[in-house]
Amino acid sequence: MDFVRPEIKAMGGYVPGEQPKGNEAVKLNTNENPYRASEKVYAAMRQAGEVGLSRYPNAMGQPFREAAAELFDLTPDWFLCGNGSDDILTILTRTFVGAGELVRMACPSYILYKSLAEIQGAACEEIRFRDDWTLPPYFGLPADASSPDSPLRTPAPPLRLVFLPNPNSPSGTMIPQEQIAAFAKTLPCPLVVDEAYADFAPSHCVELVKSNPNIIVTRTLSKAYSLAGLRFGYLIAHPDLVYELAKVKDSYNCDAVSIAGATAALRDQAWRQENLKKILANRAVLTQRMRELGFLVPDSCANFTWNVHRDKNVSHKAIYEFLKRHGYLVRYMNYAGWGDGLRISVGTEEQTRACLALVERALNETEPVVTAHNKQ
Ligand SMILES: *Cc1c(COP(=O)(O)O)cnc(C)c1O
Repeated sequence: MDFVRPEIKAMGGYVPGEQPKGNEAVKLNTNENPYRASEKVYAAMRQAGEVGLSRYPNAMGQPFREAAAELFDLTPDWFLCGNGSDDILTILTRTFVGAGELVRMACPSYILYKSLAEIQGAACEEIRFRDDWTLPPYFGLPADASSPDSPLRTPAPPLRLVFLPNPNSPSGTMIPQEQIAAFAKTLPCPLVVDEAYADFAPSHCVELVKSNPNIIVTRTLSKAYSLAGLRFGYLIAHPDLVYELAKVKDSYNCDAVSIAGATAALRDQAWRQENLKKILANRAVLTQRMRELGFLVPDSCANFTWNVHRDKNVSHKAIYEFLKRHGYLVRYMNYAGWGDGLRISVGTEEQTRACLALVERALNETEPVVTAHNKQ
């Protein structure tokens, strides 16, 4: 395929989490919400479908922006809507990053950032979390070929964009707001705080956007609003930035049905609060039991936990496979040079308890399998 740009041929492409065909498997692998979305969302979408499909939707998703403006006490021009927050991340990368320039990201974190940089023909600088999931101070400095993580040549290419998921995936941990503000002050480019999971966390960075012109917050309705199938995300940024970003998006990047559904979801905060209570309760069960079973589990601020067994002989891969054979999908993650572990999404209480029982069985019953690689 010689027609294809070399940057595209060189890249692996983002691989989404497994989506099993039937409905048999319990999916605890992609951090979807296990509960049904608000009935108000379904009603709004039915109505939008009946009245509006022959017309183009509002190009900026204005009804959603108005709902978001009320929720965050801002004006609608601080918001940009996207076809999922992945679309928002694409728009950001295309707006700020050109070929040969540099994108920085925390690592391990969301793998899509790297693919987006590669599509632009940009270089990536992955800055590692420390063992306790804090970040080194140079995360907030201009690109420097001499920093310990940097694979850069001298001189370093210009740093154009920085991605930081907060809470992070797979760890569920957070970087404190004061440190994020400090990073933004010393960075020469926008800092995107990806708040896909902020609805489950005790704090968020929207206030920082108001006072820091280079902080951009991204959000999604996929997780906390049970709408991963709808594809709706948004960003919060200074209106001057939103104005420029709007030039880069597809002209009608959100459809009439999703705008109606997302708007109804955001306006139903009572539903979100109820849902949050259940997720937090189930997360506590998951965290506590996994710790009892011998896993190191950082306190999670999201709707999943990151689990690494204390016993180095325990194979995370074998546990993942055991769970899969019994109809439970969790995410097995293996980061080069970092290590592996299991990321488990918070399910319903019933799913969570069943998954925990299977993990316990895997640790007992599959012991020969679990330790096989050690006995050769
Ligand atoms: C799930 C996720 C997203 C993408 O959300 P969509 O709105 O479904 O595209 C973005 N960032 C992180 C860190 C995520 O985990």
